[in-house]
Amino acid sequence: MKVRRIAILTSGGDAPGMNAAIRAAVRVAIAEGFEVFGVLRGYRGLIEGTWRKLELRDVSGVIERGGTMLMTAREPRFRDPDWRKVAYDKLTQGGIDGLIVIGGNGSFKGAYDFFTDFQFPVVCIPATIDNDISGTDYAIGFDTAVNNAISAIDKIRDTASAFERVFVVEVMGRRSGFIALHVGIATGAEVVLIPEIDYPIEKVANDVIEAKRKGKRHVLIIVAEGVASGSSVGDILLKRLEPHGYTDIRVTVLGYIQRGGNPTAFDRLMASRMGAQAVHALARGEAGVMAAFVGQEVVTRKLETAVSGTKKIEPALYELARKLAM
Ligand code: ATP
Repeated sequence: MKVRRIAILTSGGDAPGMNAAIRAAVRVAIAEGFEVFGVLRGYRGLIEGTWRKLELRDVSGVIERGGTMLMTAREPRFRDPDWRKVAYDKLTQGGIDGLIVIGGNGSFKGAYDFFTDFQFPVVCIPATIDNDISGTDYAIGFDTAVNNAISAIDKIRDTASAFERVFVVEVMGRRSGFIALHVGIATGAEVVLIPEIDYPIEKVANDVIEAKRKGKRHVLIIVAEGVASGSSVGDILLKRLEPHGYTDIRVTVLGYIQRGGNPTAFDRLMASRMGAQAVHALARGEAGVMAAFVGQEVVTRKLETAVSGTKKIEPALYELARKLAM
């Protein structure tokens, strides 16, 4: 059966570029003759039947905005098959026969369950600042988050350098170190701490002492939140460094500023390409797939790839970060 009426939702953590993806999907869908409906607040909106029709002008002026015009939510009920059935009944009663889900790993799991429960045509678009979705080289929002972190750290570093300080910056990344690693390389950090690689605090302390010996005017340590909080790293490190004459370590938690603000050109472009690919996939009759960035192309890949694997950090990049900190 050919899909005619598509619903779109954003779910889980918001990511800059989600709006650009919604816009692209809406416009390409309308151009291809579909009707499109925007579901509010992710899976909660599916369960509660809260959606409205979107026309071309409803997505005007959103490409440059962070956040998501459809709003997002974390909805534990969607993990329960009975509630997914409620959502399925609501969708089919509304005559909707295709679904685009924009979100991260958790949202993809929900989408995959929904697809396997009912064989409902679902296509996902990867959007999470963590960039940790398996099967795609890129998830919308990552480039903006990294750039947001870099511009904040560049400012902090001016002061750190002037006062010859050690400073610890906590960045986002509960389960993965992609943001920390990319930010670490791009800001010239001396140490990058990520969940994937164990790096004991004694070594960090040694790196700080070594850095001073080599004539560095400041030491920047980037820590992904999944390793430990910036303040606990700062406290433990200071205890180890006090015998060496260090009296203070400054800690900054970048927090939500990483997620906010206007998406970069790269995120707008990726979101536009992925939004279009998601609609084309539904038009071709594909289901249970995601738009994926693979080797410079936006293609489709089975959702199983995303839900059954974990994306690994590039060991060569980690090595590069270490090498460049000399
Ligand atoms: P981010 O990576 O930015 O946090 P996310 O999509 O991973 O985004 P989650 O909060 O993990 O965010 O998941 C979003 C929603 O997806 C959950 O609130 C829930 O409704 C649904 N979901 C998550 N995990 C599952 C699962 N295992 N089965 C079914 N639904 C799930």
